[in-house]
Amino acid sequence: MVSALYQLIPDERKRSKAVATRKIPAGTEFVFHPLVTVVNAEESVCENCLLFGEGSLRCSRCKQVRYCSAECQAESWTKGMHKHWCKKQRPDFPSDLKLLLRLALALKQGGPLAETFDELIAAQDMLSPIHQVQFEHNAKIIHAILPHWSEADLITIQAKNLRNSFTVTDGRLFDIGSGVYPLASRHLNHSCYPNCGVSFRGPQMMVKTLVELKEGDELCINYCDPIVPLKRRRKALEDQYAFKCTCEACTGGGWFETSRQGRKTADEIDVNAEEALNAIFRSSISEQILLVLGTDPDNIIQARQKVFTTLNIPPIFLNISVLSLATSRSSSLRTSANWSESASYGLYVLAYYLLIYPPAYALVGLHASDLAITMWNAGGWEGMEYIIYAGILRSSDQVLLLLGLCVPPNIGGRELSAARQFAPSFCGLTLNDNLYHKHHISPELVLDSRSAYLDFTEPIKLPM
Ligand SMILES: [Zn+2]
Ligand SMILES: [Zn+2]
Ligand SMILES: [Zn+2]
Repeated sequence: MVSALYQLIPDERKRSKAVATRKIPAGTEFVFHPLVTVVNAEESVCENCLLFGEGSLRCSRCKQVRYCSAECQAESWTKGMHKHWCKKQRPDFPSDLKLLLRLALALKQGGPLAETFDELIAAQDMLSPIHQVQFEHNAKIIHAILPHWSEADLITIQAKNLRNSFTVTDGRLFDIGSGVYPLASRHLNHSCYPNCGVSFRGPQMMVKTLVELKEGDELCINYCDPIVPLKRRRKALEDQYAFKCTCEACTGGGWFETSRQGRKTADEIDVNAEEALNAIFRSSISEQILLVLGTDPDNIIQARQKVFTTLNIPPIFLNISVLSLATSRSSSLRTSANWSESASYGLYVLAYYLLIYPPAYALVGLHASDLAITMWNAGGWEGMEYIIYAGILRSSDQVLLLLGLCVPPNIGGRELSAARQFAPSFCGLTLNDNLYHKHHISPELVLDSRSAYLDFTEPIKLPM
């Protein structure tokens, strides 16, 4: 048993899996503590607790790292091993070495999380030659500081870290560092169509259910971005995590088969992304997709099938290079305040996301929220366009409140705030209006009462 909500059961192919022991509501939160974390160079977050500090302190000696408080500075000097690269005049000590040094020290000190780390898979025989060379080089440096570990041990530790470390992000999903969360690695397998999402509050990892889980459902997160095309995605998973993905998005039938074939066909077309986007704008296909998705938010898979059976989707729509161009255009036009042009690109990106990502996926909520602000700035939305605009706001409200990521934009005054509560939702999420209002008034209150804060302190043993 791991918790009242899920348990680890043995699995032939994946070693073990975390399975819901009863119905788990969408938005339920599990908290995982780090064994160690490291902040990327040049981030304005505290080196020790990863929080954005007000009036940040800097290390007076090397001026390279920031702290939120004197306590964090003191802790980082010893426990965080900062003295080892600061004193030795090595301000360029790279993040991967910092992490390895902290990890080696934490493993030497032991404890439940260190024991769980020991159980993780290293798959050392599958290391690429580049990793092998880099790990040997790092092992020499760390062995000189911490002779407790042999160079061979340090290579194994790095291989385990490669297969199991997480990128730590802020509330807008920007990378701020990386961390080792042994229990999350041990419990949660990957899916390219995950039912749980990962976010961070300082160094704590929050895993939240994106949909309601039934008893027996496996809890999965995504180790790589599901928007990456199948071939590249599977290669990335094999290279870094040493497994072949057999999730429903990779091998499933029905909608997943339609989606795979659609994307494969789209990516094989030699497109001029610029022309493709102009054709997409002329056809208003993105708007039509949103409206069809809004007709069946209870069953997003069925709604997506309906998109493909009732609309004439141009094959280039799902091409990944068209998406990349639209994403960068949308944000650069937004930066230069070309609101309505930015909104056209952003609408296509949203429609694409809604066909691929699982319901309540964080990136979809954040993109919808940015797009709503862009559309508000552009102004002049009428008729069907106004309904889409309000629906985008509603979708962003639902996802962001469910995930507790950040408060949705308070824009548009009374008329729009009424519209956004009754507009169609495009994100495959239904919150009843009562709950929705509660979220709206006080998201913390509702999220807290439905959250299961589980403090894992014991190492987890598989049931016999
Ligand atoms: Zn701090
Ligand atoms: Zn320093
Ligand atoms: Zn997959």
